[in-house]
This record gives sequence, structure tokens and C-alpha cells, in this order.
Amino acid sequence: MSIISHYINGRVVTVVDARRQAVFNPASGVEIAQVEFADQQLVDQAVAAAKAAWPAWSETAPLRRARVMFKFKELLEQNQEKLAVMITHEHGKIFSDAMGEVTRGIEVVEFSCGLPQLLKTQFSDNIGGGIDNWNIRQSLGVTVGITPFNFPFMVPMWMAPLAIACGNSFILKPSERDPSASLLIADLFQQAGLPDGVFNVVHGDKVAVDALLAHPDVAAVSFVGSTPIAEYIHTEASRLGKRVQALGGAKNHLVVMPDANLDQAVDALIGAAYGSAGERCMAISVAVAVGEIADALVAKLKPRVEALKVGDGMTANVEMGPVISAAHKAKIESLIASGVEQGAHLIVDGRGLQVAGHEQGYFIGGSLFDHVQEGMRIHSEEIFGPVLCVVRVPDFSAALDLINRHEFGNGVSLYTADGNTAREFSRRVQVGMVGINVPIPVPMAWHSFGGWKRSLFGDMHAYGEEGIRFYTRYKSIMQRWPDSIVKGAEFTMPVAK
Ligand code: NAD
Repeated sequence: MSIISHYINGRVVTVVDARRQAVFNPASGVEIAQVEFADQQLVDQAVAAAKAAWPAWSETAPLRRARVMFKFKELLEQNQEKLAVMITHEHGKIFSDAMGEVTRGIEVVEFSCGLPQLLKTQFSDNIGGGIDNWNIRQSLGVTVGITPFNFPFMVPMWMAPLAIACGNSFILKPSERDPSASLLIADLFQQAGLPDGVFNVVHGDKVAVDALLAHPDVAAVSFVGSTPIAEYIHTEASRLGKRVQALGGAKNHLVVMPDANLDQAVDALIGAAYGSAGERCMAISVAVAVGEIADALVAKLKPRVEALKVGDGMTANVEMGPVISAAHKAKIESLIASGVEQGAHLIVDGRGLQVAGHEQGYFIGGSLFDHVQEGMRIHSEEIFGPVLCVVRVPDFSAALDLINRHEFGNGVSLYTADGNTAREFSRRVQVGMVGINVPIPVPMAWHSFGGWKRSLFGDMHAYGEEGIRFYTRYKSIMQRWPDSIVKGAEFTMPVAK
């Protein structure tokens, strides 16, 4: 049985008699490793290493820091398949999807390679009396990233490359359910020339997270995960005076207008609802059928959902793998039962699916509900599984209102052939990321990722320019030299002369 240990100050750290938790392959239900859980002492050790590494790293010229990122990117590309296999084994998503996840993560590393340009700031020459005024962006110190199970590589890459390129040191607390990728990331950072202590990995649960939050030497916390924990992290870190961004859960709608190309909308819904077994924060879980298109939409969706190829993510041609755990499978099944009890029409029932040769795997087939109403749990709650709900509304305004009333505001999509509808929708919808005839509008690395409402706590979105702002502090400098100083004290507010 392999043990997954922590990584501190450039080496793997194992603690004898540490608390441990099993890591499973969701496709087989077999325990494949055990991950060690950090206690207060281990967290202290990681923070001390990160604190000690920070001064020299922050003083390293931006171009030299960027060169480490260039090398890191090259190494990640060489190890892409290895990372993807790790992800599929521990998460369950299909291998091609895991390869896509790694690509999207590498893109943020690529963005971080442009750091010298990204850190350039503004300068005002001679604002008055021989004074110049400019600003700089300086690193914060020890930064922490706490990440979810559903993107064990990509989400850590939303944080660590930017934090580190900006001159901070970083401690990753990955999901305990698929922790292996984090150690390969650590190894590749080291091979890329990153000094020891700048990137560290601490495994664990609430004990480790709380110790990181409470540590006085931690300056900033980035979190991605479920909304209740995001809210807790935001409240707690803010109370303790730390900078914090906490991205939470979602319930993403895709509106199908009567003028939409129905086949395109159906393709979009099938990929976005059932890809990665619905375990994406940008998965589409609600199809909003506007007007008379609903019957035709459901008629086209039904056979496609029934035909989904479900199996081990390492098997060729499989379209959907298992969900992450037996407990999560049971939760999804109970939410499906609640939908039936509350009166929604279950058109395709994925419960009870058996995959031959994988009888102990955490599989659940694609499920489809029609006539879902606001107020039903399957509409109000994030299911995070392969379940698509169709809500029928009479017109565009009703679709917009339905979405804007929802507590989450992560992603949304609209399928239409009309430019003005698209424009109105983009401007009026209360959601952070909008797709027009694009089902999953995850912004590119040089834009920023983040939802609205209870999908994000904090002011700044992840990566892109907002990421640079999050991981740096703004400082304004005014400077003049003795010959330009006018004699005499000034008692009124200085203004430009
Ligand atoms: P989770 O909230 O259970 O766990 C996220 C992280 O928090 C993990 O590292 C976990 O160890 C830690 N954690 C769990 N319970 C904790 C507690 N009580 N106190 C302190 N820390 C705790 O989330 P998950 O199940 O791993 O991931 C799925 C969720 O993440 C979904 O809700 C999904 O929508 C969300 N997500 C959001 C985004 C986004 O960008 N908004 C992206 C990916 C995933």
C-alpha cells in the first residue's frame, strides 16, 4: 500500500503514526493508497519553511522567476500523460478529459511566464514640485491554496504558478480524495529550479485547513470548493485579517431559445451535463427550455442520455466515468429520489447501473428530469452528478428571472440565433461567466475565473489579471530629491501645483 506524504522544503516528509485516510480508485472501488493527514505541528513546519524561503525568492528578479515557470511548463508538458493517468485513477474522469484538465492548467503556467510584463505598473512624471509618483506591486509572503477533488491538477494551477511568479511562497492543501498529482507538481517545480520551501504540500482535512487559517504567518488564502466551506473559509480568514478569495459551488443553467439550433443545443447539453459525470463547477445541470421548444428538446435528449457509454475512464471510447465516492453516489441517488417525490418527471433513471467487471465501482448512469420546478431540491441544490433537469418557461424574461433568483451565479449559457437576445442576456444575467452558444465558458488564463453571488466570496476572481492583483500588494511611491524641495513647512493639503 503506497503512502502519500507531505512535501516541505524540497523533500517528502512522512510522519510516523500520523492520521491517514484511504484513497480509492472510483472505477474499481479498490483502495489504492493512504494519504497522511497533517496536524498542527506539521502545518507549523510547512509555514516556517515557506516563510524562510520567501525573502530570497521575492528578491529574485521577475525575469528569473519567469524562467523557472518556462522550465516548469516544459516539464509539465513532458509529464502530461503521467498526470492524466493519476487523475483518472483517483478521480475517475475519462483519460481524454484528464488530458484536457492538464492542458487548461498548463495554460495558467504559460500566462505566468509573462510575469515581468504583467508586473509593470504606472508612472506619473513630475506631478508637481519635482515629484514623481508611481506604484509597484509587491508579494505578500506565505500564501495558501486549498483545493477541491474535481480538478486535482487544474485548480492548484489556478493558484500556485501566479502566487509563486509574483514572488510569494505557497502551501497547497489539495483534496484528500485525489492527492497524488500535488506531489508530482512539487517534484516538477523542484526540477524546474524552484528553490526549496517556495512550494510545499500539506495533506489533510479540517485540522490542517484550520491550522493554516489560524497561522499568523499566512498572508493570503485561496480556496475552491463547496459553498458552505467557501463561506466558512472567507469568514474565518477575514476575521483573522488575511486576504482571501473563496470560490464555491454552482447551479449552471443553459437556456435554449425557440430560435436555437436544436441539434447544437443538445450536443452542448450532453457534453456539459454529463462530461466528468457532472462533477465540474461549470457543468450545466439545468436546461431552461423557452416556449414550445421543450417537447422537441426532451425528445432529442432522452435517447442521447440513455446511450451514454459509462465505464472505467481508462477504457477507450468511454464517455463518462464513475463519481468520486460511494458516499457521493448515495447522495446523488437520494437527490434523484427527492426529485421524484417532489413531482418532477424522471425521464431517464441512472440509478442502479452496473458496469461489467467493475461491480464495486461508484457508477451512476446519466439521469434526465423534465418538468422541474423552482423550489424542488434538484433545482435549488448543487447535485454535482450526471443529472440534468429541464425547466420549462414561457419566455426569455422568465428564463432570465429564474436564473437571477438562484443563489448561485457561477456560469450560464444561452443558445440562440438572435444577436440582440444574446446581448440583452449577457448584460442582464446575474452570473460571473457567460457563454453565448458556448456551453462551458471557462475563461482563458489571461482572463479571470469567478462566479457571482454565493459562488464566490471575496472581491477578486482567480488567475488572469485578478490573480496578479490578489497575489500582490499595491504600493504608491512619491519621490523628489533635495534640490527640488521648496523651503518651509506646508499646513494645507498638498495639491498639484
Ligand atoms: P469541499 O468543499 O468538500 O472541499 C474542498 C477543500 O476543502 C478540500 O481541500 C477539503 O479538504 C477542504 N475541506 C472540506 N471540508 C472542510 C471543512 N469542514 N473545513 C475546512 N476545510 C474543509 O469540495 P469538494 O467536494 O472537494 O469539491 C466539489 C465542490 O467544489 C463543488 O461544490 C464544486 O462546485 C466546487 N468547485 C467550485 C469551483 C469554482 O471555481 N467555483 C471549481 C471547482 C469546484
